[in-house]
This record gives sequence, structure tokens and C-alpha cells, in this order.
Amino acid sequence: MPDAREIREQLVFYGRKLEEKGLVVGPGGNISARLGDVMYVKASGAAFEDAGPMDYVGVDLNTGEVVDGDMRPSCEVPMHCRMYKVLPGIGAFVHTHPPLAVALASSGAINELPPMFPDFVALLGDNVPIVPYVPPAGEALADSVEGALKDHVACILKNHGVVTIGSNLREAYFRHILVENAALVYITATKFGGITPLDAEEVARLDSHDTEVYRRKLLKG
Ligand SMILES: [Zn+2]
Repeated sequence: MPDAREIREQLVFYGRKLEEKGLVVGPGGNISARLGDVMYVKASGAAFEDAGPMDYVGVDLNTGEVVDGDMRPSCEVPMHCRMYKVLPGIGAFVHTHPPLAVALASSGAINELPPMFPDFVALLGDNVPIVPYVPPAGEALADSVEGALKDHVACILKNHGVVTIGSNLREAYFRHILVENAALVYITATKFGGITPLDAEEVARLDSHDTEVYRRKLLKG
């Protein structure tokens, strides 16, 4: 079981990786990880690329109050808090603004990213839903994301960004990278006449295959 210092170090590490991958610019996006009844979340205005451990503040999941740190937490605290309360077993929540996933979702061309390759099925399941635009930083966005994540581990917010959950930051991070990767695959395939997704039978086979079950288990740490 990590302590607050380790959780903050993990948040700094994965926050920087998200910025290095080009999934966020400047102070955009926010990530959090759970430690008991407290979630550690990026401070408002902090940028992943130069945020240090104390730019992640502890917020009590029951009261919404800051209980560890001096900074003001991200304006997306209601969305983060809600997910830890309603989704069983999640240890981390990642939200960024990746350009390809946002472009694809905002075009209106599709309502979900279909399963296109085995890693997609292993890490993201049978699809990634796209939810209609809701203004950021409020309970309405929390409602919308909660609805999508009841049956999924990732969703794309139209005209906004991507969210993923995981049992830990590593899992939520890899899922996040894969959503943007899948958007790239989808967009590229449209240049050649469109994608042929995996069929339901193959998705079910992959989902229960020993190799994928084992790989998923490793990610949970
Ligand atoms: Zn956002």
C-alpha cells in the first residue's frame, strides 16, 4: 500500500509522461489517484510538465475538502470525486485533451470507437463511447462521465477530451495512451476506405484468452 509521498511521486511521473506524449498542453488536463478516503489530484493551474509533488493535493472524498496540501485543486474535482464514489475498485482517474481523439469525436462521424485490434480489446474492452459535449467543471459533466464509465473503462468527451479509469495510475495511463492510438488507427483507416472492426466473436475470444487475461492482471500490479 503506497503512502501519500509515493502517490504524489506516481502522479508527477505519469503527469509528465502524458505531457511528453502530447496528450495535453500547458495546464490542461488533470489526474488523480486514491489513497483510502482521500484522492490526490492535480492543483488548478499546475502544468504536468513542471508540476512537483506538492502540486498534487489531497481531497477528502466524502467532504470534498482539501486535507493535504496548500494549493487549490483542479476545477474538475466533482468529476474525479464522483468516479471514486460510484465506480467500485478504481484507484486512478486520468483526464487529458488528446488532439486525435478529440478531433475524431468532435467531427460527429461516429458515436463510439469500435474494437479494431487485440490490444484495444485487452485494455479498453469492446468499445470506447463518445459522450455529447457538456460544459467542463461541474456536476453535469460528472453525470455524463459516470453514465459512460458504468460499463466502460474509457470514454471520449466530444469537443473536450478523454477520460480513463484504472485500478492504479499505470493502468489508467496505458488505457489513455491506447485511446489516442486507436483514434490514430481509425482516422488513418478512413484514408483507405474505412476500418473493419473485429467482430463480436473475435472480441469475446480475445477477451477470455489466457494471454490477455495474464497481461491485464500484470497491469493491475
Ligand atoms: Zn478537460
